[in-house]
Amino acid sequence: MPDTPAPIVIRELDALRAEVGRWRANGERIGLVPTMGALHPGHIALITAAAAETDRVIVSIFVNPTQFAPNEDFETYPRTFDADIAALRTVKCDAVWAPRPGLMYPDGFATTVQPGGPAEGLESDFRPEFFAGVATVCTKLFIQCAPDTAVFGEKDYQQLAVIRTLVRDLNLPMTILGVPTVRETSGLAMSSRNAYLSDERRAVAAELYVVLKELAGDVRAGKAIAAAERGAKARLLERGFSSVDYVAVRHHLTLAPLPANEQAARLNARILAAVWLDNTRLIDNIPVANLDGH
Ligand code: AMP
Repeated sequence: MPDTPAPIVIRELDALRAEVGRWRANGERIGLVPTMGALHPGHIALITAAAAETDRVIVSIFVNPTQFAPNEDFETYPRTFDADIAALRTVKCDAVWAPRPGLMYPDGFATTVQPGGPAEGLESDFRPEFFAGVATVCTKLFIQCAPDTAVFGEKDYQQLAVIRTLVRDLNLPMTILGVPTVRETSGLAMSSRNAYLSDERRAVAAELYVVLKELAGDVRAGKAIAAAERGAKARLLERGFSSVDYVAVRHHLTLAPLPANEQAARLNARILAAVWLDNTRLIDNIPVANLDGH
């Protein structure tokens, strides 16, 4: 796609609301793609999906401090704003919402959205504050941008389930669109955090997808779930991952463990995993149903 005009960059809430108000007055539908920047082709796929659904696309770029624990990588998270703006010239993006420091969490900020349901377990067992941080910042972004549609990646599958539940539970007048994970040719799910990996470690990282597909095959073949999960964990460690937070077969909507001996529930299930490679944490997920359709 040829270069499009650079999107306008908005840093103040008044300016955002004025722009959104002008679009609404024209009867235009608005799409929002929340990101933390360091944009890659996964983000671009979300923006393309938003542009196909709506008339005006807002990409938010905000590295949200409340979803990082004190020992996590908030300080070192990649920040590539100029390159992000350049990348956005290859797609339809009308505005970048990059709130100035202090706007999202002013002194005295004291309100948190605490999600339950699909937020429980998996990531929350290892990052207990994470989904409250995500739910709070997304609620703020939704209220600020007032989109008709907000687009999220299946890459963060549990997050997508949490956001769908939040929008339903709070009656937010918008729809959530999920977009399949964009991968490198090696199968490695694209992620801003892949920037932390050397070429040699990237080759190990690509094994995560391989092991998830093997686990999906085991589940489809009728292997007992707990044994299949244990086998996948052992294979991840054998193939060079430093440790495994979880590798789990779950209901695709509730993310609850599957009822015992329910063969039918298996084919709809989702496999989710979080692993460490040295100091880099990687997450990925796939459906149990065969990705190749056979
Ligand atoms: P992030 O900037 O990492 O917070 O991600 C912003 C959005 O991009 C989230 O909805 C992610 O799920 C989505 N995303 C990140 N990586 C990918 C990918 N490889 N494929 C599809 N969506 C992605």
